[in-house]
Amino acid sequence: MSVLLGCIADDFTGATDLANNLVRAGMRAVQTIGVPAAALDAEVDAVVVALKSRTIAPAEAVAQSLAALRWLQAQGARQIYFKYCSTFDSTPAGNIGPVAEALMEALGCDFTIATPAFPDNGRTVFKGHLFVGDALLDESGMQNHPLTPMTDANLVRVLQAQARRRVGLVDYATVARGAAAIRERVARLRSEGVGIAIVDAISNDDLMRLGPALAGMPLVTAGSGVAIGLAANFGIAPSSAASALPRAGGWRAVVSGSCSLATNRQVADFVASGGAALAIDPVQIAAGADVAGQALEWAAPRLARGPVLVSSTADASAVRSVQGRLGAEAAGAMVERTIAAIARGLVERGVRQLVVAGGETSGACVQALGIAQLQIGAQIDAGVPWCHARSEAAGGAGLHIALKSGNFGSDDFFTKAFTLLE
Ligand code: ADP
Repeated sequence: MSVLLGCIADDFTGATDLANNLVRAGMRAVQTIGVPAAALDAEVDAVVVALKSRTIAPAEAVAQSLAALRWLQAQGARQIYFKYCSTFDSTPAGNIGPVAEALMEALGCDFTIATPAFPDNGRTVFKGHLFVGDALLDESGMQNHPLTPMTDANLVRVLQAQARRRVGLVDYATVARGAAAIRERVARLRSEGVGIAIVDAISNDDLMRLGPALAGMPLVTAGSGVAIGLAANFGIAPSSAASALPRAGGWRAVVSGSCSLATNRQVADFVASGGAALAIDPVQIAAGADVAGQALEWAAPRLARGPVLVSSTADASAVRSVQGRLGAEAAGAMVERTIAAIARGLVERGVRQLVVAGGETSGACVQALGIAQLQIGAQIDAGVPWCHARSEAAGGAGLHIALKSGNFGSDDFFTKAFTLLE
């Protein structure tokens, strides 16, 4: 069994975002949590190895990425895709440049491209400059990011500061002329000693023109947008078969540790439509109460009657008050642990369709459930697919799980998610 496209993503939700785009382009895709210890046991066209390497020390990010590369090569991957954020999130030291160059060296290739363009999400690149919606990157709010402040929208300059090889540009005028023109420009840049080229793209059409020019390139580095133009290089066309998952069964539940605006609306909508919901209180957790045990006792007799929801979701002022009493980090960690224990208990009690709301919360739940791989299915809302995974908490059996980060999804997301599985 051999994988066509092997992907290395620098964070967990970014990996899902990429896998979702690959599935929509017709590729069957699996996302792994970290580098798997064993060989792949599913028949798929693409694998996305999810690392957490965006903000760690460059040397450590390189080591993890190379380990992922070796595993992907052992699965037969014909092309490697290094996926980073569509806002090019990086520290002054990296890690996009150092990881890209280490992968180039390991693959023995002297040229690759780099573009975070993802027009569906408002990320466009023009003359090497990254726009987020209508704003340049350094005026988009990203200049104030706590871990990866982006203070320059000129990606050629940003990447050059992180890379030893020369960085160049495949500009919009070239991209607009199509794949042959892009290939010509790449050949010219290579002859001039350029190792990595930022590529302009302002629409999906641009990405579809770029795709064929990347056929056979050993390494592609990009956000998740470029993925939409790659499937055709492997003779694959969009098809609903790519997102087929096993039949869903078992009880249904939602756990939420997200306090984002969209999640607050989704919880309110679920309650308003008559769903069984329980709010858990971080202050009780801090006081030592067995909040997870109580929640499971509440849920058990209700599972047979339809989806249950357990959440710590609260509005901004309630969160501030809890954080004031417990400290933001301590409160977050406590709530994550509790929600993860509840998710595990629910699956142990027969839940096989689980929606998790919250990015960090999702990471904690996937870990508590003992999930190593996610098969990606159809999307519920933009960027949030149903997945199927074997879980230790289910005694090694499979379950359906959707991981929704903060502000994703429509107000009726929870109801809609279960309807889609019926
Ligand atoms: P999102 O994707 O919406 O950002 P995350 O799960 O990534 O959600 O982050 C939410 C953080 O807030 C988590 O660390 C979670 O444990 C914490 N949290 C959840 N509920 C509360 C609450 N009521 N008070 C304080 N912190 C909370």
